[in-house]
Amino acid sequence: MPVMDQPAQCAWRTNGRLNMLYRSTRGAAPVTLDEALVLGIASDGGLFVPESLPDLGPQDFRSTDDIRLTARTLLTPFFRGSELEKDLDEIIAETFNFPIPVTPLPVSVGRCGLLELYHGPTAAFKDIGAQFLAACLTRLDGDRKKPLTILVATSGDTGGAVAAAFDERPGMRVVVLFPNGRVSDRQAHQLTCWSDNVLSLAVNGSFDDCQMMVKGAMADEALSAKYRFSSANSINVGRLLPQAIYYAHASLQHFRKYDRRSSFVIPTGNLGNAFACFLARAVGLPIGDIVLATNANRIINDFLDDGTWEPRASIETLASAMDVGNPSNMERLRKLGGEARELAGKVRAVSVNDSQITQQIKQNFDEFGFAICPHTATATYAWRNLDPAERMEKDWILVATAHPAKFESIVEPVIGTTVPLPAELAGILARPRRFDVIEPTALALESVLSRRFGS
Ligand SMILES: *Cc1c(COP(=O)(O)O)cnc(C)c1O
Repeated sequence: MPVMDQPAQCAWRTNGRLNMLYRSTRGAAPVTLDEALVLGIASDGGLFVPESLPDLGPQDFRSTDDIRLTARTLLTPFFRGSELEKDLDEIIAETFNFPIPVTPLPVSVGRCGLLELYHGPTAAFKDIGAQFLAACLTRLDGDRKKPLTILVATSGDTGGAVAAAFDERPGMRVVVLFPNGRVSDRQAHQLTCWSDNVLSLAVNGSFDDCQMMVKGAMADEALSAKYRFSSANSINVGRLLPQAIYYAHASLQHFRKYDRRSSFVIPTGNLGNAFACFLARAVGLPIGDIVLATNANRIINDFLDDGTWEPRASIETLASAMDVGNPSNMERLRKLGGEARELAGKVRAVSVNDSQITQQIKQNFDEFGFAICPHTATATYAWRNLDPAERMEKDWILVATAHPAKFESIVEPVIGTTVPLPAELAGILARPRRFDVIEPTALALESVLSRRFGS
């Protein structure tokens, strides 16, 4: 792709050559961004990836502290030919409406900072992708006669972020299915405190039951046509693209200040967040090493070690949002980064067990005076256990994926004190809860949909 033009000049230049298309990781014919956003997943079951990557170095970004301008420069090539190109500034403004700082850590050797992705409405990084996707879908589809119904099965964090992002959006409904009694109290609250366009369903079953019900409903053509089902799960390209922005912004700011690349350590489950960093580096941003911090679910680690890809049932850990036995974004990473041997030269993975997570929460509090969540603790562990020379010679940014107050039942006993609630979370927890309890069957889902949304 050519080096970027100023967005204002190129906004309507949508001849075939410049349009960005998105192809399936499994080979189906490419589609436009707008189709990829609405479809979520390719017709052959693959994941959408951009057909080509722009070539953008630090010199292509205006020297600025405004993450929104960085976002516009980075996203413009990915939106070429989209109906949304003219709305990009608005979409960005609706998404990046809270701070995303890098807080320097007072380390005695080397340089290290914490990228805080948890200042959004539901206090986890998934807010960013969910808000961006909501802003896109509302504009693509928001004024049709019949609302679009986003179905989401959640084990905790995703459902809250999606519900918050679509809450009160015209022409949009959300149905959240979560396993009754198997999410934390604060998570349950975030899943059940929204307006009339959000239907929260506590399913008497497991997360797998919830996921099966969603898949079943989407595969039911009559039902699907009646409610216009769509999904907002983490493989949607509309959740992926905005996540590349904070890596771009953090690395550019660091590069301007120190003229050095940033290396990132990223808590990883389904590999969406880390893939976005990989994408940002492939585009040309000043990013050095990428280290994936996983929990006891070792599938990525084993793949990088010996090339065997063995999806398995997930193990429950303290970093529950990373309990993934078959990370779907690996398909994207292999497409962009190659197979095991080649990929292992571009990215590393460190597996962190529960007792190491607990120990990190304590050590971080003792050394730096603030609490971290169990997911973030996997990143601090991986960083502390780097080769000492490497830890000193490179500049590290550790990614903090959720606010510790969201996981207070794990964090507070370890640090022996309470974690203050951030204002957004306190606001959510003050709202009344409202949800239906249903059995884990297609019939139960159908009947509650009909009761709440009419026929
Ligand atoms: C979802 C989540 C992760 C894992 O992110 P992936 O994109 O699935 O790798 C890590 N930490 C928190 C707090 C999360 O909610």
